[in-house]
Amino acid sequence: MGSAAPIAVPIAAPIAILSAMREEQHALLPLIENVERFEVAGRQFHCGRLHGRSVVLALSGIGKVAAAATATLLVDRFAAGELLFTGVAGGLHAGVAVGDVVVARTLLQHDMDASPLFPRYEVPLTGRSRFEADAERATALSQAARRCLTGDRRVHEGLIVSGDRFVSSAAESSALRSALPDALAVEMEGAAVAQVCSDFGRPFAVLRSISDRADDAAHVDFTQFVAEVASVYTRTIVSDWLACRIDR
Ligand code: SAH
Repeated sequence: MGSAAPIAVPIAAPIAILSAMREEQHALLPLIENVERFEVAGRQFHCGRLHGRSVVLALSGIGKVAAAATATLLVDRFAAGELLFTGVAGGLHAGVAVGDVVVARTLLQHDMDASPLFPRYEVPLTGRSRFEADAERATALSQAARRCLTGDRRVHEGLIVSGDRFVSSAAESSALRSALPDALAVEMEGAAVAQVCSDFGRPFAVLRSISDRADDAAHVDFTQFVAEVASVYTRTIVSDWLACRIDR
């Protein structure tokens, strides 16, 4: 079977840094050097260098389909060797507060349900419901986040769940907590990126600042946090993570 276009194999495959919304990315963008911009499928891709590394920054838009399409383009068109998703999420677990950071160890689609044909949450015909983030990158991200956070803000590592819903009621978040007691945070893209990266055999990591508690106040907390804090978190933690890598 032939493929539509030859796949470029770059000498140093870029690190893809993906966010859903402009506010999550905009503080990082000015740091990119030698930028070249491309537009594919209505998305902007910024290729360049950040802390001496080849990177490609992209905005997926919100939700699993948008994230999966963008992740696929990053791997197949932009030859990304690894993906980092950075953005905001709603805190689910009791100790996960607004302003904390969650680094994914595993991801799951909380709205995937083909039962009774397949167990709830399992991605049909894969035999899997949980997709692992790359362990070394997750550890390095947590360390970077710990170096960057101030005050009593905490870094958590564990399960992040994704689905095509902005979870913004106490009833919905408590239902998620009961069904998935180990879930730390909920968002709308990470598990989709995880599945694409698993298909392509690319390591990936997910970094989320907690913008809200996925409860009745979520829409108020979310808007303020995204505008004022999220992008700065992304810039400081991702910069530290890249600057401290030793695989140059
Ligand atoms: N009203 C917003 C909608 C944003 S959707 C707007 O118009 O821009 C929420 C985005 O932030 C998604 O990209 C998702 O990944 C993340 N997110 C933050 N808090 C969330 C929550 N409580 N539930 C689901 N996703 C959340």
